Amino acid sequence: MSKVIVIGCGGVATVGIVKCCQHPEVFEELCIASRTVSKCDALKEKLQPNTKTKISTAQIDAYDFNALCKLFKEFKADMILNLGLPYQNLIIMDACLACGCHYLDTAAYEPENVDEPVWRKRYEQRVKEKNFHAYFDYSYQWEYRKKFEDAGLVCILGCGFDPGVTQAYVAYAKKHEFDTIDTLDILDCNGGTNPYPFATNFNPEINLREVSSPAAYMVDGKWITVPALSIKREYNFDEVGMKDMYLLHHEEIEAIGATFPEIKRIRFYMTFSQSYINHMMCLKDCGMLEAKPVMFEGREIIPIQFLKKMLPDPATLGAVTKGYTNIGCIFTGKKDGKEKKYYIYNCCSHEESYKETGLQGVSYTTGVPAMCGAMMVLTGKWNTPGVHTVEELNPDPFIEALDKYGLPKRESYNPVMVD
Ligand code: NDP
Repeated sequence: MSKVIVIGCGGVATVGIVKCCQHPEVFEELCIASRTVSKCDALKEKLQPNTKTKISTAQIDAYDFNALCKLFKEFKADMILNLGLPYQNLIIMDACLACGCHYLDTAAYEPENVDEPVWRKRYEQRVKEKNFHAYFDYSYQWEYRKKFEDAGLVCILGCGFDPGVTQAYVAYAKKHEFDTIDTLDILDCNGGTNPYPFATNFNPEINLREVSSPAAYMVDGKWITVPALSIKREYNFDEVGMKDMYLLHHEEIEAIGATFPEIKRIRFYMTFSQSYINHMMCLKDCGMLEAKPVMFEGREIIPIQFLKKMLPDPATLGAVTKGYTNIGCIFTGKKDGKEKKYYIYNCCSHEESYKETGLQGVSYTTGVPAMCGAMMVLTGKWNTPGVHTVEELNPDPFIEALDKYGLPKRESYNPVMVD
């Protein structure tokens, strides 16, 4: 029986909240706290009649440490689910330490302002030393390890699908299928369609930054960086069919590489249509993906935030998105001295996600693992104090919960490999 605050009330948070409310035996009281409180109130109104979880709401600016502490203390929160944006991860982690709350998020810390001089200096050093160009970077959150250990609190980073479930799949493969893993390809396919010429299926700012940045993969613990969208493959996905996919730098590569240095090569591919790429590159070339403020008619605007305003809100795509997502991990390695291949993945129907939660599959595949991860912490199954990425934790109860609560695994022992 626990008291939980969810920060954010967008697509991912809404699914997480709907799923928490299906388990009042774990989530006894839930506070929905976000920047726009009217969204929290509307969700409460919709859910409260059908759940025993007691729901309240609060307005919060997650950049405001004192306001966070006041809310966490007044509510007497056991755990904070940060399902808003990654920009505020460190502030919310600080507030959790100050108030004795466990913590979970779904995306690695990255700053909103990538020109902030102290952050920029460290970033440029990292680019030079490690050839690691992404703005997101677990090192900032890993620096909190001792603080969470000393406080006896559990902090789970990146507990969506990817990052998140993909890392549980790696831990599961290592525990049950392999003595050693040699290579890992993470494949993320959104086979969903909607009527819009261009829409992102989660927060556009985070999504477009990720896709338009240099791509990277890891070989023997070292980063190999290549231009954005320069490595393309085709793959035939279960429930979806043949799709183009592109190598991307994705945050779980850093975590998996650190926890399983035996894996010689780690790559991440995501599917995009040619139309999506054409739109994105055109917007990039026009400067619309810039996060730096520009003056427009006497006032400052941030181009990517203006663009976000003009694009469909991902939280409203549910009703019009059809098809499946298919996300998983393909491994090569050895078991009992023999070479082996293994593919573990999940297929999620956008239409079924919408029927159950009012949201499309990408919000669903992120919100369900967030709820399951919180459930692991609150029921004592993941109880080691400290800061953890998901591949460090026991995968079995988590994957069992995913199987039961909406994201069952599928397996293949003879998958087609990515060359
Ligand atoms: P949305 O933009 O739909 O939602 C973000 C929410 O955070 C909104 O409710 C927003 O409020 C709120 N918010 C933003 N800034 C603040 C602030 N300063 N204080 C309080 N609340 C704030 O994003 P999504 O739901 O699509 O994505 C949520 C997170 O999930 C992102 O970090 C994304 O990277 C991550 N993600 C992870 C995936 C995974 O598999 N691991 C996959 C997909 C997404 P308002 O309503 O006022 O805008």
